Amino acid sequence: MIEMPVTLQHIRAARERIAGKVERTPCVPSQSLSERAGHPVHLKLEHHQATGAFKLRGASNAIASLSPEEKSRGVVAASTGNHGRALAHAAKLDGMRAVICMSSLVPENKLDAIRRLGAEVRIVGNSQDDAQQEVDRLAAEEGLVMLPPFDHPDIVAGQGTIGLEIMEQVPDAASVLVPLSGGGLAAGVAAAVKGVSPGTKVIGISMARGAAMKSSLDAGRPLQVEELSTLADSLGGGIGLDNRLTFAMCRDLLDDVVLLAEDEIAAGIRHAYEQEREIVEGAGAVGIGALLAGKVKTSGPIVLILSGKNIDMSLHRRIVCGESSGRECAA
Ligand SMILES: *Cc1c(COP(=O)(O)O)cnc(C)c1O
Repeated sequence: MIEMPVTLQHIRAARERIAGKVERTPCVPSQSLSERAGHPVHLKLEHHQATGAFKLRGASNAIASLSPEEKSRGVVAASTGNHGRALAHAAKLDGMRAVICMSSLVPENKLDAIRRLGAEVRIVGNSQDDAQQEVDRLAAEEGLVMLPPFDHPDIVAGQGTIGLEIMEQVPDAASVLVPLSGGGLAAGVAAAVKGVSPGTKVIGISMARGAAMKSSLDAGRPLQVEELSTLADSLGGGIGLDNRLTFAMCRDLLDDVVLLAEDEIAAGIRHAYEQEREIVEGAGAVGIGALLAGKVKTSGPIVLILSGKNIDMSLHRRIVCGESSGRECAA
């Protein structure tokens, strides 16, 4: 197997480091999805993680890996929401300063949550790239330590701890479906899953509107794509033209990448609520959406990662009432 920058060994070390700081989330069977798929389907409930998304794992691992001197300077990041929230939470636990920069596309509910966690919030521009420029400035001028949302070995290793848990909870998993944006989650989970069980398939799922990793994988190099509004807002944003880790890891480790239309994401959110009694955000529902749309062909047990629950509740209500099919995003 190809030598990876983040290995099973790093991921096991991350698990030791973040033990007691993050939840070991349940992985439960879904009767309705199992009947539909014709194979056992299990849901990894990462949206039950503190702060409502898996990103606390990477943030906790990255912060726990800082030197005392770095901790005294504080951390800064650009975030579409969940990474910022996770970093704010983890920094506060450690008594550290956290500054979170984000674009004006980020929904109000996510922004408020970060402020409530005690972090400073800066709204800059209309894209993740604009927010990143402010991060670079703060790192250069005020000495804050930059912790990016996905392209960092300690972040990838932290997210990978989900893969270790999955292989303990469903040892015969034939495939694992992972929401895919910058690829920190997919790279970490794939490294863990394939480290333990090389034959298990790992499939990334993105929205069709602005799927930066998929376009980049197809082109064979990191590409910039236009950022568009989507129900899966946590999957928005680019992978960075100077991507160091996650592009190569996703290229070498993922078996496939599947793209979903907005109404397929909405169907995933609706199914999660009505059949599984779970509130998930768009990004967290793409695994369910892909199965319901018949876009994933597998044989054997399937694990879906429900990655987050931080959705605006009035939007959630419109989706489950059938008043929103998600198509207005594509209008
Ligand atoms: C960040 C995020 C993702 C995607 O993770 P990447 O590491 O950027 O691929 C998926 N779901 C939710 C809820 C997220 O917050």
